[in-house]
Amino acid sequence: MSRLPVMATKRVLTSSNSDNSHDLAPVQKKLRKDLEPHRPQTAATVIGDKRPPAAATRAPLYKSVRGAGAATVAAGPSRAVLKQPAASTAPKGSASIKQPVGAKTGGTGAPRRQAWDLKGKVSDMEGRIRNYQTRVKSANEENEVLKGSVVQSQSRVAELEKKVEAQTSKISQYEVELQALSEVQNELQKVSNEKSCLEKTLSNLEENYKAMETLRNSQEIELQSLKMKLSVQESTIDRLQTTLRDTEEEVHSLKETVVQQKDEIHAGEMERRQLHNTIQELKGNIRVFCRVRPLVDGGLSNHIQLAASDDKSIMLAKTEESHTGKNTETQKNYHFSFDRVFGHQASQQEIFEEISLLVQSALDGYNVCCFAYGQTGSGKTYTMEGEEVDDSRGVIPRAVQQIFRAGEKLKSQGWEFTFTASFVEIYNETLRDLLYTGKSSKRPEHEIRKTSNNEVTVTNLTYKKVYTEDQVFDLVDLAKQNRATAQTAQNDRSSRSHSVFQLQIEGANAGRGVKCKSILCLVDLAGSERMMKSQSQGDRFKEMTSINGSLSNLGIVITALANKESHIPYRNSKLTYLLQDCLGGNSKTLMFVNISPELDSFGETLNSLRFASKVNDCVIGTASSNRK
Ligand code: ADP
Ligand code: MG
Repeated sequence: MSRLPVMATKRVLTSSNSDNSHDLAPVQKKLRKDLEPHRPQTAATVIGDKRPPAAATRAPLYKSVRGAGAATVAAGPSRAVLKQPAASTAPKGSASIKQPVGAKTGGTGAPRRQAWDLKGKVSDMEGRIRNYQTRVKSANEENEVLKGSVVQSQSRVAELEKKVEAQTSKISQYEVELQALSEVQNELQKVSNEKSCLEKTLSNLEENYKAMETLRNSQEIELQSLKMKLSVQESTIDRLQTTLRDTEEEVHSLKETVVQQKDEIHAGEMERRQLHNTIQELKGNIRVFCRVRPLVDGGLSNHIQLAASDDKSIMLAKTEESHTGKNTETQKNYHFSFDRVFGHQASQQEIFEEISLLVQSALDGYNVCCFAYGQTGSGKTYTMEGEEVDDSRGVIPRAVQQIFRAGEKLKSQGWEFTFTASFVEIYNETLRDLLYTGKSSKRPEHEIRKTSNNEVTVTNLTYKKVYTEDQVFDLVDLAKQNRATAQTAQNDRSSRSHSVFQLQIEGANAGRGVKCKSILCLVDLAGSERMMKSQSQGDRFKEMTSINGSLSNLGIVITALANKESHIPYRNSKLTYLLQDCLGGNSKTLMFVNISPELDSFGETLNSLRFASKVNDCVIGTASSNRK
């Protein structure tokens, strides 16, 4: 500490001070003792404190009266003052020292005077007095010197005391300062502690800072990459937005186009319906197609000839023996023409192509009725139902397929269709539900009624909602089974009953507020063959009458419709009554006349063709030139 020298100074000063006081005291005492030779013991003690060895060695020079006391005084004076008298006295003393030989020395070695030598003794004493006087003189001189030195020392002491005082006040001042400084030091310590604490905190903070900096650097890099990504994405978004705007505009214009086109399509569809209907009407609302069944071996018999020029004419030729002349044979030709005549090679597909136009009419909201007329075995069921194999499938499955598919297509134009199927057999003017699945003992009876909407309906009949083609095919299968059951119970029943498949079609275009409702009827009629009167007895007679009645009534109704007669005798037979809705108004009717190619069926074939021709003539309104 910077304060240490101050302390040292203080100590030095203090000791010099005390030394001074000690130094002075023995000098004064010594002077007093020199003057008191009878108490050399005390003087010897004081001076001995200063220089004991020197005094001891010099002591033997003189011997005081009391021995040790004189020796002590001789040894006592300090260097400068006492030496001189000792030296100067020596020569003087040598004379007195000279003792007569044989004289005894008294105690300290000096020659002893004989008791009688009083003179000598006085001379010795005088010598000794002189010696003492010299010594007193020199002691006085020394004392004077010492007095001066004492005064000097005293002034110096005073001076030093003053200095000491000044130093003491300085010291106390310094002490105050020191105190203040120690406080400052404490403060400094505190501050330094605080500093080290802060330094620690700082280093922590620095570490933290470094870590944060590292983090910040990495985040800045990340930020940079994110910024780049962002800018890339922003440009992508910009591009996409532009594209989106373009696309939106495009979509907007396309939507407008779509709306426009939908309107156009709808208008086109309506126009198509109208034109289709017009064409169908021009073709005739009642059309007759003739179909010739192939011979069992696949060929065609000679008596049936189809015109090569067109597909509308058929000729039956019969060679008869003349009633009058021998060997004369007359050939009678029966010419018929229909809307279409199909030969034995015509496939199911070709047949259906002609009917498909009418099926389309059914979807357009027109009632459509398709009959198969002809004698038993002429191919009615084959034409209407066909066989399971795809190519051999008949009109019913194909029509159903077409209707479902067309209905599906019309969905895109906003059309929704519901289809309801029913299958009825009419035998002996009695209705039988061919879709019945309950117990045969609980078969309900059916009656044809008119609803409040003046629509024909059959009581207790199964009206099955269908959504797929397969469902309809399943129903056709079910009808076949029901007919087969009846067939075994009653031989050849199917040929003596009509079977009527009806598909009610309801369409709605909610967007345009348009609705349509129609019925597609596909009828497999009972065999048209006539019985010999002799064979027609009992049930057979009843059947015959019934069949003939309903078939002839069908002819009558069709004719009446074609002639636009005020009264149409629908109610004369169950068949015409059931088909009332399908036959009147705007409905389209197609009649297949199926004929067998065998020669022995000639009569029935001719009858069938005549019946069909009558229907056909009615429609075209012109007398058939072919009729014979
Ligand atoms: P219908 O129902 O008029 O009594 P079907 O349809 O039962 O007559 O026909 C009698 C037989 O002749 C059946 O075996 C049938 O397969 C066959 N048939 C009918 N028309 C054709 C045809 N166009 N091609 C081949 N076979 C036919
Ligand atoms: Mg049949």
